[in-house]
Amino acid sequence: MYYGIDIGGTTAKIGAFKDDKLIKTWTIDMHVDSLDTMVDNILNSIKKQDSEILGIGIDCPGFITNNLVRSSANLHFLDGIDLKQAFSKKVKCPVRVINDANCHAFGEAKAKNLDNIMFITLGTGVGGGFVLGGQVLEGAFGSFMEIGHMHVDDDYNFRCGCGQIGCLETVCGQKGVHNLVNYYRSNYPTKLEIDFTVKDVFDLAKLNDPLAYKVVEVFTDKLGLALANAAIIINPQTIIIGGGISMAGEFLLKKVKSAFLKYANENLHETKIILASLGSEAGMYGAYYLVKDSKK
Ligand SMILES: [Zn+2]
Repeated sequence: MYYGIDIGGTTAKIGAFKDDKLIKTWTIDMHVDSLDTMVDNILNSIKKQDSEILGIGIDCPGFITNNLVRSSANLHFLDGIDLKQAFSKKVKCPVRVINDANCHAFGEAKAKNLDNIMFITLGTGVGGGFVLGGQVLEGAFGSFMEIGHMHVDDDYNFRCGCGQIGCLETVCGQKGVHNLVNYYRSNYPTKLEIDFTVKDVFDLAKLNDPLAYKVVEVFTDKLGLALANAAIIINPQTIIIGGGISMAGEFLLKKVKSAFLKYANENLHETKIILASLGSEAGMYGAYYLVKDSKK
């Protein structure tokens, strides 16, 4: 069988695939501090299930080009490591390694049979990926589609984790929601508790809570601006919105579509904007499709 592996900071999710179907998933602990231990743990766990491994695709956080992990914020022992080579020393099957947001983009594109898409993931921060002609693009230094750090804001001057001011993820994604709630809390009445989640904000916005509604308005407006800016350069056929916050569904989608149309060049008005469909399995699917498609 083929295996798609989604490596995270605390666990790795492993999916076994047969005929494009995810037939089994399990997780293994990632509290390891060496490359050898990580590779051995993953391979031993797969070999227990299967003696004939056809391919291994790996979705990994970090800046990655050509299977080389240039740097990974949460898994420092992978910095500068050719992860494909590390696996290939221990297993004789095709191996492919790719950045997590790019991998999700590829999974969503393949699942929908689309070959020209821009993908945005709305989580703690904001990330993205781009698939053109059925190929996922990594860029020269592995930072293709780092849309979370596109400058879109001159109204609030929130400082981003990257050191800049005005990045998309200071006003969008989980961090952005917290910044905006703090900024507007004393100006707008609200039922929002002091200890809140992003889901609470979207749920209350749907009920026209003044503070929550204002925060969602700014969030979707800045996101629409960033998508219009990115789309005028790469001209995708479809924009797919994923990540945990995309669970806000049609309410979010409708607002993002209208903000996109407000800022986008007329030539871009046919761009479709849709919600992702693979949820937390996108990484495993993307990694699987990638290794299955790879020639070597
Ligand atoms: Zn930034």
